[in-house]
Order: sequence, then structure tokens, then C-alpha cells
Amino acid sequence: MKLFIDGDQGRAICDHCKKMVSLTFKRRDVPFSDKKGLAHDILVGVCDECDQVVSIPAQSTPSISESRRKALRSIEVRLPAIYLDMLDLAAFTVEPDSKPDFRKDLLCYYIHDLAQDPKGIQRLLSAHKLSLVSYAVNTVKIPSRRLSMKVPDKLKAELRRLEDESELNTTDLMKSVVFDIQREVLQKPKPVKIKALRYLALVAG
Ligand SMILES: [Zn+2]
Repeated sequence: MKLFIDGDQGRAICDHCKKMVSLTFKRRDVPFSDKKGLAHDILVGVCDECDQVVSIPAQSTPSISESRRKALRSIEVRLPAIYLDMLDLAAFTVEPDSKPDFRKDLLCYYIHDLAQDPKGIQRLLSAHKLSLVSYAVNTVKIPSRRLSMKVPDKLKAELRRLEDESELNTTDLMKSVVFDIQREVLQKPKPVKIKALRYLALVAG
């Protein structure tokens, strides 16, 4: 595949001039493929005679594709405060300088990791058991906190699949994910995971 740069020349049929014309690659604002809004400074072939866009090179299609800008899905749960403390402690342990939002990245990473792991459901169910024995018998009422995050479509689908296969509801599933995180980050740190998570903390946000 050829990559074009600003100022490159080419030829194409121009719909406006109704003939073969010479074109020059320039940056223009182009409508997204779903026509909702404009993508800015996209490299396109512009007719040298009428100045209309006559071709969009392959390298520019990702920037204008609608799938790239699909709305994020939201996940909302209420968790006992202790789970958010656990998550924050794990985020802090991975990277003390991480941003407050890193705990959400950490959750997303683990949802994806559990969805990809052939033993993911086993891991979830054992984490769930652990969460039950650790906090269910507590007689003191633990206050709960709201956790809301925006995630890509595909991650939301992975979460749904984990829910279906584990037969846990969203709240119990998220509790189990947090417990899995605390197991792998705090209790028995897994060096490979910690390394990947440190990198994530570095590039996130
Ligand atoms: Zn033209």
C-alpha cells in the first residue's frame, strides 16, 4: 500500500468536472462516513481544476470511519466501599503516581483479561466465593459507592458474556473482578501482569 504525503500528485475521475483530472493531496475537513460531523485535517485528493475532493486514500479511511467514533457504553454499579478501596489500593500499588481514573483502566484490563482467559470463568467464580466468605458475614453495614465508567462497545460485550457464562449479576461480577485484581496485584503479585499494568498506567490518560 502506498502512503501519500501532502503535495503528492495523482489522477482520478472528478464527478464535478466529469472527466479525468489531475489531483493534489491536501488536508481538508471531510464528513464522517455516517455524515454526522466532520473529521478535521484529513489527507484527500483534491481536483486541480475545481478544488473538490475526488479521492480518499486508504490511509485516511480510519479517521473518517464511523465505527471508530461509536458512542462509548456506560457501566454503572454500586459496590460496597471496601471494593473501591481495594481497587484504589491495587491501582496505587501498580503505580503510585497513577491518575485517579486509572482504577477504571485497571477494571477494563481485567474484564478483557478474564474474557480472553479460557479459565476466566473459573477465576471469576473462585474470586466470587472468596468475596462471599470475606465480607458477607460482616455484621457492620458497609456503605456502598457508585462506580460509573464509559467503555468501548466490545468491552461491554465481553462483560455481558462473562455475566452470562458465570451467571453472576453485574454487581457480583464486578465485585469478583475486583477480588481477582486484589489476588493478582496485592495478595500474590503476578510479575507479568504487574509489568503490563505499569505500562498501562504510564500511557493511560
Ligand atoms: Zn474537478
